[in-house]
Amino acid sequence: MTSPLAYRRVLLKLSGEALMGDEDYGIDPKVIGRLAEEVIEAQKAGAELGLVIGGGNIFRGAGLAAGGMDRVTGDQMGMLATVINALAMQDALEKRGARVRVMSAIKINDVCEDYIRRRAIRHLEKGRIGIFAAGVGTPFFTTDSGAALRAIEIGADLLLKATKVDGVYDADPKKVPGAKRYERLTYDEVLGQGLEVMDTAAFALARDSDLPLRIFDMGQPGVLLRILRGEPIGTLVQGRG
Ligand code: UDP
Repeated sequence: MTSPLAYRRVLLKLSGEALMGDEDYGIDPKVIGRLAEEVIEAQKAGAELGLVIGGGNIFRGAGLAAGGMDRVTGDQMGMLATVINALAMQDALEKRGARVRVMSAIKINDVCEDYIRRRAIRHLEKGRIGIFAAGVGTPFFTTDSGAALRAIEIGADLLLKATKVDGVYDADPKKVPGAKRYERLTYDEVLGQGLEVMDTAAFALARDSDLPLRIFDMGQPGVLLRILRGEPIGTLVQGRG
């Protein structure tokens, strides 16, 4: 079947906060349901989709460490939080008829599969949505790094980072009126101008593998499919120089 899409296989990174809606903790079923519908719509159009979901709606290691907890323990709690979110997304997707596999970077076999690259690719080829939980599986990293790593491993054509802002700006658009959104940036422009796109480790991984990134706002209904059809929504980071 010829795909009408500009991208065949993509990795979508959602922050944990994207699941909270207007709450300040946890998961809003309406919000996760809407995100699941967007993902299914994109998959039905022919995309192979891997998902990485953060854990910031529950725990972040750095925040727990600031409150006095051992950092490694805090990061392990953060990784477990990403597994909780992955299970919630799996449920929301399955309730809407999708086939899904959660694969975790830390072994937690009674609730999901271990992440095994070849198996992950096979799931995608068979039309299952893969949710890659627990980041890279070690402390002192984030799920941005997990998203970049998994995108490269599964041979994704594009890493999509959903945020609350509709792209990368030259200044904080909430604080600076008239801040300008970039439509395209190279990796070197992001580094040279000190722009915040992803954390440093994640960005370095993407850059070294020439993985294109698109930063966009998941708030508008239908946006995921429009991007996969090639619409230039948000900011694209790609190329050198
Ligand atoms: N985490 C980790 N290693 C990883 C990925 C995540 O230790 O490879 C921990 C870390 O404490 C992080 C937390 O899990 O803060 C939740 O992930 P993240 O902050 O990336 O979530 P998001 O901000 O995207 O919701």
